[in-house]
Amino acid sequence: MDTSVKKNPETQETHAALGDMPTDEFRKFGHQLIDWVADYLNTVEQKPVLPSIHPGDVIRSLPSLPPQTGEPMQQILADVDRIIMPGMTHWNHPRFHAYFNSSASGPGILGELLSAGLNANGMVWESCPVVSELEEVTLGWLRQMLGLPKEHWGMILDTASTSTLHGIAAARESLTDLKTREHGMPGRKDLPRLRVYLSDFAHSSVEKAVITLGLGIDGMRKVGVDDQFRMRPDALAEAIADDRRQGMRPLCVVATVGTTSCTSIDPIPAIADICGREKIWLHVDAAYGGSAAIIPEMRWILEGCDRADSFVINPHKWMFVPVDLSVLYTRKPDIMRQAFSLVPEYLRTAHDDVVRNLMDYGVPLGRRFRALKLWFVLRYFGWDGLAARLREHLRIAQEFKRWVEADPNFEVLAPVQFGAVCFRAHPKGIDDEGSLSKLNDNLINAVNGSRETFLSHTKLGDRYALRMVVGHLKTQESHAWQAWQQMQKELKTLVA
Ligand code: PLP
Repeated sequence: MDTSVKKNPETQETHAALGDMPTDEFRKFGHQLIDWVADYLNTVEQKPVLPSIHPGDVIRSLPSLPPQTGEPMQQILADVDRIIMPGMTHWNHPRFHAYFNSSASGPGILGELLSAGLNANGMVWESCPVVSELEEVTLGWLRQMLGLPKEHWGMILDTASTSTLHGIAAARESLTDLKTREHGMPGRKDLPRLRVYLSDFAHSSVEKAVITLGLGIDGMRKVGVDDQFRMRPDALAEAIADDRRQGMRPLCVVATVGTTSCTSIDPIPAIADICGREKIWLHVDAAYGGSAAIIPEMRWILEGCDRADSFVINPHKWMFVPVDLSVLYTRKPDIMRQAFSLVPEYLRTAHDDVVRNLMDYGVPLGRRFRALKLWFVLRYFGWDGLAARLREHLRIAQEFKRWVEADPNFEVLAPVQFGAVCFRAHPKGIDDEGSLSKLNDNLINAVNGSRETFLSHTKLGDRYALRMVVGHLKTQESHAWQAWQQMQKELKTLVA
């Protein structure tokens, strides 16, 4: 950022006046900032993906007291270079292969900018009609791209964690005889223990939701998985029967399409059969994997999800929409409404009978205009364009898997169905799990320590696994190759 801009006396004067930044100044710095972001996106690849920084460095470089008087914008922007950038892990970097990465694409960034400029709050339809209606239309498009039936109505939330919390809250509301909305749960002798079923590979956000909703950790039952890390329907059926025998009340099954550790896909059709038979709410977490269903030949991954009572997908994970944007679909919006609607007088409007007021379907009242960035992304790339980019990620992940398989010092640890490869170094002669964990831990530390590539790890049973995720919009095969070569090189050094 150009910090050479000299102090502008006009600007200084307006700082002392009441009111916002003058339009000329906004335009000037706005242009400058867009140029800065464009240059950043163009050159981010030349930067290390990870910062060289210690805990507390950023805090120490900032004043502990708030600014008493306004500061010139150029000074603030200069500090972006001086303080913010050195602390950045670059999620928008093509060699960010950790977690499930996220790309802020050009149209997504512009949508976010417009959303801030308009600063609308879609609490109720009337508070800004286009917020509700654009959300409805874009989520209708996305639903069709995913192949979900039209009964699935969607709303935008911040994260999958929040979406799952809402899904399980609706599940609890669906047990109308319990009257938890009216009477709560604590101190009630008439309430059976409620149970939520999930596999060991479900995301931790499910457990958080269960805890937050007051069901307690004891309200959760983990169901065994098969050798491909998929929930076992027979074990689920058995767990439900066992709980019923003990007087517990099955509440919800959370199944995952694309688990966080290894992207396994729970057998949704068989799980949906059980949920249908047992009258249990089915929530599907497709936060990461769901995006792949927009590729026609990958649509099978969502087989059975038409029967999910609620379903979450995060376009901010693998659909090039900047964080945050999670979508919760439900076949039962009326139950969601029953769980959450509470209308104070000041929010009553003349249109309440003919529109959906989004505040009625969840915890948040305020609702930012997130649909704009999704609208921009869907229109700019188009369904075909998005599918083509995801298909290329799947191809690169398969290539990476082949490289790993071809090297006798490494092994693949889980089926590769999406853009993530779980693997580890396993040189001849090192076979006990403790030594292998140590070796792989050292390997990932060496790779990430170079700051050139960022990978993350997980555990599959007692095996320490490295995760290589290909999901950034600009990640090409050459980036994956670079990461692979680096891993081979670091392993040689470690073993030597
Ligand atoms: N579900 C799955 C399968 C995930 O992989 C993650 C995060 O990676 C989440 C849920 C939580 O996502 P969020 O950060 O949007 O809450």
